[in-house]
Amino acid sequence: MINLVIFGPPGAGKGTQSEKLIQKYGFVHISTGDLFRWHTKNDTPLGKRVKEIMNSGALVPDDITIAMLKEELDKNPQAKGFLFDGFPRTVAQAEALDRFMKENNTAIHYVLALDVSEKEVRDRIAKRRTIENRADDEEDKLNKRITEYFTKTIHVLPYYEKAGRLNTVNGIGPIDEIFSRITAVIK
Ligand code: AMP
Repeated sequence: MINLVIFGPPGAGKGTQSEKLIQKYGFVHISTGDLFRWHTKNDTPLGKRVKEIMNSGALVPDDITIAMLKEELDKNPQAKGFLFDGFPRTVAQAEALDRFMKENNTAIHYVLALDVSEKEVRDRIAKRRTIENRADDEEDKLNKRITEYFTKTIHVLPYYEKAGRLNTVNGIGPIDEIFSRITAVIK
């Protein structure tokens, strides 16, 4: 069993690379952003709780996010491996994830951090906005999401670096080239 975290700022290409990883390795994909969007779209009690927060571009509190993630893990006891996308975004989330993995006698084996500059990310998101019409990608929220990444989420990297699990991958270039860089890391 291999478990992997794909990491990077909004617009770094996590979603695109995740799809390719799933195709190649058969991971169960857990994207907390997708899960939150599903809940808000379907107006579930959880969706109602997080809607405003998501619309502002802020991070959902750890207790809510961690509980949702745990539930998702429990739904997939047969998984060959998990690909975590958009989680963890705080050190508390990273610690919780390690705990959950340990409880199942496994671990996070690789953290793949897509290295993309802030300027590149802003250009990409601007382009994506015109195609996808995602509510949380509106101009005023974009700044907040990028700020959340560079002020909070980025602190997760030293956590994994200390444990020797961090793999930084150049996230600039053609999609297939970036994918080759990623697969070169996974043994
Ligand atoms: P994403 O599509 O991963 O950028 O997530 C969209 C939004 O969902 C974020 O801007 C946050 O409001 C929320 N979200 C997703 N994942 C997390 C997480 N791990 N921790 C806190 N909030 C999250």
